[in-house]
Amino acid sequence: MKVQRACKHCNYITEEETCPLCGNPTSEEWQGYVIIIDHTKSEIAKRMGINVNGKFALRVR
Ligand SMILES: [Zn+2]
Repeated sequence: MKVQRACKHCNYITEEETCPLCGNPTSEEWQGYVIIIDHTKSEIAKRMGINVNGKFALRVR
């Protein structure tokens, strides 16, 4: 299994070293995550400023 990484800018979780959403570097040092299924209805997505569906880290170092 590949290492999951999280974007330092938008918290998107990916296996890539650069974020496919915003192009910023990703980090292996992250904790916790939320899965956004429908960002238009998600309070968490609204609070975190997320406007796509996917998996997002709660804390990225
Ligand atoms: Zn990003």
